[in-house]
Amino acid sequence: GSIWNGVPQAPPDPILGVSEAFKADKDGSKMNLGVGAYRTEEGKPLVLNSVRAAERQMVADMSLNKEYLGIGGNPNFCKLSRELILGADCAAVREGRVSTVQSLSGTGALRIAAEFLGTFYKGAAVYLPNPTWGNHKKIFPNGGVAVKSYRYYNPATRGLDFQGLCEDLCAAPAGSIILLHACAHNPTGVDPTHEQWAEILKVVKAKQLLPLFDSAYQGFASGDLDRDAQAVRMFVNAGLEVIICQSYAKNMGLYGERIGALSFVVADAGVAKKVYSQMQQVIRPMYSNPPMHGAAIVERILSNKENYEAWKLEVKGMADRIISMRTALHSALQKLGTPGNWDHILNQIGMFTFTGLNSAQVTNMTKKHHVYMTQDGRISMAGVTAAKAQYLAAAIDDSVR
Ligand code: PLP
Repeated sequence: GSIWNGVPQAPPDPILGVSEAFKADKDGSKMNLGVGAYRTEEGKPLVLNSVRAAERQMVADMSLNKEYLGIGGNPNFCKLSRELILGADCAAVREGRVSTVQSLSGTGALRIAAEFLGTFYKGAAVYLPNPTWGNHKKIFPNGGVAVKSYRYYNPATRGLDFQGLCEDLCAAPAGSIILLHACAHNPTGVDPTHEQWAEILKVVKAKQLLPLFDSAYQGFASGDLDRDAQAVRMFVNAGLEVIICQSYAKNMGLYGERIGALSFVVADAGVAKKVYSQMQQVIRPMYSNPPMHGAAIVERILSNKENYEAWKLEVKGMADRIISMRTALHSALQKLGTPGNWDHILNQIGMFTFTGLNSAQVTNMTKKHHVYMTQDGRISMAGVTAAKAQYLAAAIDDSVR
């Protein structure tokens, strides 16, 4: 017998488990719309040309070595990252009030933030939108932060439950942490309007809540990096202290490089220094210091005009292809006369559509049509191609009839 006989089998991950099932399926028409990774019009993974260019420059640069980075990562990468999300002319940046560390993508940024909050902001719970990215519910308790939720999505309208959201934020105890998806809410694809963001800001301010922005899709929602950062900038420019978790997985296609950043925007530069020192204390015993390759790619894209301009076009290209797949799927359903209203496919934002399919219908999609998606009815629009939109529509049509 093994020492580990008593270890129970863990359930498959609700998102990554879908990819495992997809790989095992031998059917030629299968589609993987589970995981949120971009695919080309040919259904292939994409390495951006700007990333290739940066990597070629790195290979040629004989001054680069493989020494350890500092605990907080590549300092120039950190500077460029906070400027990307906040804007280079942001007062908080200029005044040295933003502390940034490099992280293991967005997940790692959230994990460091959680442990920091569990240590220095004891007793406050984090309020997550309902629904939210599933990993949020595990990351925060692991860092020592209790999880609560606020109303977000209204299944009846397939839109935002704005009144419910405001009521729940108003009812949260002062000092509570409020997790906000900066843009392209996952899994619903439903974002507040500019006016609604302004209202949320008012509530957050009045109730002295601590906003934590999860920014995993900057540029992916609208195709415009600045526009997708508007909500974050609105809060920071209003003088609030905020926490920001950034990921370059989607907008640079650097999924497996695990590159992201965590920033604390605080009231003064002295506090920023102390906060930075404690972020290092969280990181050091966890993984000592982060890997250098992804940070070096991002650094070369954000600091080199030619690479940056090329990247901006590529982000827009990815966003535009996703948006065009919304139109393709919507019109294919119209043509089939599929029962129900499917306008939410056009109205939702970012990588995902929250189809509204129930669990039995999802099972039919997978078992009968080999379309793999998460059980909550979410599909990744980035996995749809013009050639397969018709097939997908027919599968949805069959599943809802
Ligand atoms: N936050 C949200 C809302 C996400 O959707 C994701 C990725 O799917 C992440 C964070 C973090 O992903 P990663 O750790 O790959 O950057």
